[in-house]
Amino acid sequence: MNLAPALTAASRAGHADVVSLLLDVHGIDPNAGEYGEPALAVACLRGSPVIIKHFLNHPRINPNIPTIDGYTALAAACYRGLEEIVSWLLLTEGINVNAGKYHPLMVAVQAGWGRVVTQLIKSCVNIDVDQHAYNQNILMTHFPHPQYAYPHYSPISREFRAKECWLMGTAHWRMASFPNNTLSDPGDFSCSGRLTPRQTGPYAVGLLNGPISRREAYAPILIRGSTFGEGDPILVYCVRVGNLGMSEAVLSHRGINMSAQARCGCTALIVGSIQRRHTILDRILVRADTDPRISCPAHGTAILAAAHRLYFDTVNKIISSPLRSKLDFCDSIASCGCNLFICAARSGDEDTFLSFIPLISDWQDSPNIADCKFGRTALLWASLYGQHSIVQLLLLIPNVDLNHKDKDGNTALMLAAESGFEEVVRELLAQSPGIKMNVRNRNGDTALSLAVWYGYEGIIRLLLARNDVDVSVLDGPGLKLWMSLYA
Ligand SMILES: [Zn+2]
Ligand SMILES: [Zn+2]
Repeated sequence: MNLAPALTAASRAGHADVVSLLLDVHGIDPNAGEYGEPALAVACLRGSPVIIKHFLNHPRINPNIPTIDGYTALAAACYRGLEEIVSWLLLTEGINVNAGKYHPLMVAVQAGWGRVVTQLIKSCVNIDVDQHAYNQNILMTHFPHPQYAYPHYSPISREFRAKECWLMGTAHWRMASFPNNTLSDPGDFSCSGRLTPRQTGPYAVGLLNGPISRREAYAPILIRGSTFGEGDPILVYCVRVGNLGMSEAVLSHRGINMSAQARCGCTALIVGSIQRRHTILDRILVRADTDPRISCPAHGTAILAAAHRLYFDTVNKIISSPLRSKLDFCDSIASCGCNLFICAARSGDEDTFLSFIPLISDWQDSPNIADCKFGRTALLWASLYGQHSIVQLLLLIPNVDLNHKDKDGNTALMLAAESGFEEVVRELLAQSPGIKMNVRNRNGDTALSLAVWYGYEGIIRLLLARNDVDVSVLDGPGLKLWMSLYA
């Protein structure tokens, strides 16, 4: 008589006494399973300690037989985050921690069980850490259990700013529908540890506080798409979700490859820089085997990826780390065409820009690179922010384009005029005859009409003092204003 179906059924239903009775039957195979479901793996997914004990005490138990879906008993216990059962399995004779299609370590990471991840790494020296993240949906469907259809995520980076994350997170989970058991813990939300933006300027504020980045930063893990992090090497995945404990556990394994790349080409360092995982970055930046020169075809090097997002605190962290000697600032260009030079120009921070200049040795060869969002060159950014010393520096470069237009058709002169930076306007006007006075932007405005509109008297005087200025641009009221002031 084949007792395997009964054994699996009793394990699934949680009938410990029946399992015990069946296992005592002479000649029973404790490893057989109904429809490719070995009873031990089924019991581990259900999480019944008594039943699991019965199996593990059987002299002929083989803990490594995977189900037809490809998970072993250990992977099932890891999926459920059952620390005690994981520890029993790890002590079982003949256990192979690397068996099965779904690796227990990657499963524990994706299910968010930090303590289990630490447990696996600490107690298994031969665990294979060369793992890549599975598709979230496939993982969920292959670990079928109606009661545990959703992995339960353990708190993330609870030690800092958890309260703030909770406050930000509430608005989101009220909008989304979640299984009830995930709502109780503020730690369920991704905490990026984002600091108050140090930067000023419209671009910086726009990027940091934009609706997209805010949603990204506080999105609960559960509403991440099925392809979130798919294919990520294990460390990259840990950094992407921002889990400090897991990242530290994975980093502690001697077999971890710091240069492993996600599908786009990002390393853990690049992802950490993009996501501003500063606490995790501290751990990554002190390692001699971290290579900051690796460039993702889509996101560039870590330092460029951070600079492109105006995360200059992250940039400074990398620059001032022990990796500094390995950095190469010249050849890094993002897929959008931006390089470190134009990213620094956008910072709106004179000190930041000037501190980058000596690092980027080849910037004078191509001073007219424009950023991908506004189409502004360094001269336009410096003019917009009224950075007189930078404008002077750039004007010394023979091939700098004085009349470059940004995406709205504004030139450096127009940006300085509309922002009221008289010194910069004077500096630009001194570039005669190269400077074009009467360029119109998409709105039909010139530097003069902008200065009149915003009422910068000093600039209006500077512009009107030129004999090549076109006053016909001023409409009736503008002309009247000019007449009343200076006629
Ligand atoms: Zn990338
Ligand atoms: Zn760009």
